[in-house]
Amino acid sequence: MHKCLRLGYDAAMEFSIITKYFTGLGVLSPPEVTLAIGDDAALWQAPEGMLHVMSVDTAVAGVHFPAQASWYDIAYRAVGCAASDLAAMAATPAFATLAITLPEHSEPQLIALSRGLHDALTKAGLALIGGDTTTGQQLVLTLSVHGWAQSPVRRSGAKPGDYIFVSGVTGLAGAALPYILAGEQVPQAFWQAYWRPHGRFDLRSAVSRYATACIDISDGLLADLEHICRASNVAAQVDAGKLDISWRQHLDPDQARALALTAGDDYQLLCTAPEHYLEAMLASGFYCIGRCAAGEPGVKAMLAGKPLSFSQLGYQHQ
Ligand code: ADP
Ligand code: MG
Repeated sequence: MHKCLRLGYDAAMEFSIITKYFTGLGVLSPPEVTLAIGDDAALWQAPEGMLHVMSVDTAVAGVHFPAQASWYDIAYRAVGCAASDLAAMAATPAFATLAITLPEHSEPQLIALSRGLHDALTKAGLALIGGDTTTGQQLVLTLSVHGWAQSPVRRSGAKPGDYIFVSGVTGLAGAALPYILAGEQVPQAFWQAYWRPHGRFDLRSAVSRYATACIDISDGLLADLEHICRASNVAAQVDAGKLDISWRQHLDPDQARALALTAGDDYQLLCTAPEHYLEAMLASGFYCIGRCAAGEPGVKAMLAGKPLSFSQLGYQHQ
């Protein structure tokens, strides 16, 4: 780290925090990592012939998560969201680094943070091999995640005629949000979707074998599909009737469908694949929800053969 001019900066305390709470987290360092925490930098070598795939995500208290949430949950979610970008490229996860800004805190909060990091890193198959620790006004976690792939799946490969697939239900994390913002108890299924996201690494081999384009859903299904359309120069049509909204509980079907199409934070994968892989994609656990066509890049959602208008559905994504 760089020298700190603030009086009272305690290097010994920073060192002891790193040793106690940030060392040895996640999976044991993979063989490609030859030096982890403790030196000026870490060392790694991607397996021969593989591309290094990396992504970084920052989570800020009060912006990306409620500041009063448990530090276990905050840490778990930050790792899960960051790791999902590797899954979206069909990369094999390898390691992560964490730059953290710590506000005033208690020992139990640090323990919870460390456990949340460890559990989510382990679930994703990542080792924590370095980072930076500073103090500041509010909790900020910047996670860089790294992996490797022979041919990473990009957003730009969709072709007219490709089918559109989603890896699971969407809308649940969005349904959790009003409860979380109001400080109310969140129904369990919604809570799980919001606080325990994880990259769909279980689908890596299907994505890398069959998908022409892939993205993880962080902004909302339609918004993220639009990213694929623009990058691939195709039009897309989604049949909203194909979306699973059986999770909707007290929400009416229109509200649930609107959340499934427009709310973010579910971290499912959205892929395109050619017709001859339709059966293989379905057998891998994907749901087919639409099709790409030649034309102006853009996304249309239909229900029972009619175009959906979101103002009619009464929901505006914030
Ligand atoms: P330097 O002053 O050389 O940058 P630091 O004192 O910042 O070293 O860090 C010492 C070691 O601890 C480095 O290996 C660094 O990667 C690691 N480290 C620091 N903070 C974290 C953190 N929050 N998570 C994981 N590793 C960390
Ligand atoms: Mg440093």
